[in-house]
Amino acid sequence: MAGAFVSTSLQAAEEKTQPTVLILLGPPGSGKGTQAVMLHDKFQLPHISTGDLLRDHIKRNTDLGKKAKVFIDKGQLVPDSLIMDLLFDRVSQKDCAKGYILDGFPRTIPQAESLQSRLNEKHIKPVIINLEIKDKEVLERLTQRVSCEQCGTPYHLKNSPPKIQGICDKCGGHLVQRSDDTKEVIAKRLKVYHEQTEPLIAFYESHKLLHHINCEGPIEKVFQDIVSNMNKKA
Ligand code: AMP
Repeated sequence: MAGAFVSTSLQAAEEKTQPTVLILLGPPGSGKGTQAVMLHDKFQLPHISTGDLLRDHIKRNTDLGKKAKVFIDKGQLVPDSLIMDLLFDRVSQKDCAKGYILDGFPRTIPQAESLQSRLNEKHIKPVIINLEIKDKEVLERLTQRVSCEQCGTPYHLKNSPPKIQGICDKCGGHLVQRSDDTKEVIAKRLKVYHEQTEPLIAFYESHKLLHHINCEGPIEKVFQDIVSNMNKKA
């Protein structure tokens, strides 16, 4: 059945009648950001990362940024009340008219419910990919992760290093380690993931909208698996 939704959504997008909304679920470090960049390149849909939106506010020292930083630095989720408007404002922009790729949203049941009711109003059936990975692998990945200060593109120092050390292949920006990619904060983020975000798997399974992908293999293989699941016939 899930394939039916996916197929319908993609066919509709091809016919330009209905937007394609792709949601990437998975713990921190599962590769949502990396895959979202590749999917953006393939499908030309905007990549919307709530983490990037928040980091941009922090950089600009806005009121929202100041509030969000307190939670992010502790590995906690930013309250739903702060994140919902941010996300819904973003997806209301013109470039999202044909659809978008969500990376890092929803992360709680109330977020998922409000997104779902918004999509229902527009008769949009999202494609949802759950990236599966063990906690041990997450810890190894995130302690080796650097990302571009400017465009957010992530790199793994061993598995997918930049061509020039410290410099982003895409935009030439500087690569930095995120302040929340320390061992202590990663452990906290994983705990928060299991408590608050993992229940979304059951939520979306009950809506028969979910595809599970093992994301411990090479990046390109995970990408191919995502694309073939998206194209699966009913
Ligand atoms: P990410 O870049 O997706 O790993 O997000 C970094 C941090 O931003 C998270 O650890 C949260 O503190 C916060 N954040 C990002 N997206 C959300 C969300 N949908 N709900 C609550 N907090 C979020």
